[in-house]
Amino acid sequence: QGTFDHPVCAAIHIAGPGQALTVATGQSDDTFEHDGQITKRPVRAITLSTLAPKPGEHLWDIGGGSGSIALEWLLAHASTRATCVEPRTDRAARIAENGKKLGVESRLTVVTGAAPEALTGLDTPDAIFVGGGLDDAMLDAVMDQSARLVINAVTLEGEARLAHAHTRHGGALMRIDIANAKPLGAKRGWAASYPVVQWSLIR
Ligand code: SAH
Repeated sequence: QGTFDHPVCAAIHIAGPGQALTVATGQSDDTFEHDGQITKRPVRAITLSTLAPKPGEHLWDIGGGSGSIALEWLLAHASTRATCVEPRTDRAARIAENGKKLGVESRLTVVTGAAPEALTGLDTPDAIFVGGGLDDAMLDAVMDQSARLVINAVTLEGEARLAHAHTRHGGALMRIDIANAKPLGAKRGWAASYPVVQWSLIR
C-alpha cells in the first residue's frame, strides 16, 4: 500500500484494449488523438524532462492542443494534477477524451478559454508550460506565478520574445533541432523540422 507522496506503483498504464504504455516520457504521438497540432514525441520528451513532474504537483498546460504535455505529466505520477487551457472547443473536448482514454480524467481539468484571461481563479500551479498563444500579456501573467516555467516557441516572433525574457530574467534558453531521414530521390536525406526554442526558468 503506497501513500500519497510515495506511491508503491506509479507507472502501470493501459492505453486502450491491451496496449501497454512505456514508463519513459515521450509516448508515441498516436497515444493521443490529435489534429496535427501536437508537440512531437522527441520535443515532448525533452519538455517533460525540463518540467520535471514530482508527486502531488499541479501543472498549467497553456495552449493544450491535444493535451499531450498535461497527459504525460499526469502519467508520470499517480498524484499529479493538470489544468489545460485551450480556446478551441473541438480541441478542449479532445483533451478531455484523451484524458478518459488514458484513465487520468479525475486529475485533469480542461478550461475552454484563452490565456491570460482564462487563468484567473485557477488553482495555484507548481509548474507552467506554454505551448501556444504567447504574447506580452500572457508572459506577464505566468511570470506573476512562483511556478517553474517552460515555454516552447516555433515562430520567429515567439523566439524573439523568449530571447528577450532570457536577457531580463535569466534561466536557460535551448534550441532543439531535429531531422528525420526521408527518401530523397532513390536515396535518403535529412528532413529538418522547424527548430523549437525552449526557455525555462526553474525557480
Ligand atoms: N502542446 C500541444 C500543442 C500546442 S499547439 C500538444 O502537444 O498537443 C498550440 C495551441 O495553443 C493551439 O491548440 C491553440 O489553439 C492554442 N492557443 C492559441 N492561443 C492561445 C491562448 N491565448 N491561450 C491558450 N491557448 C492558446
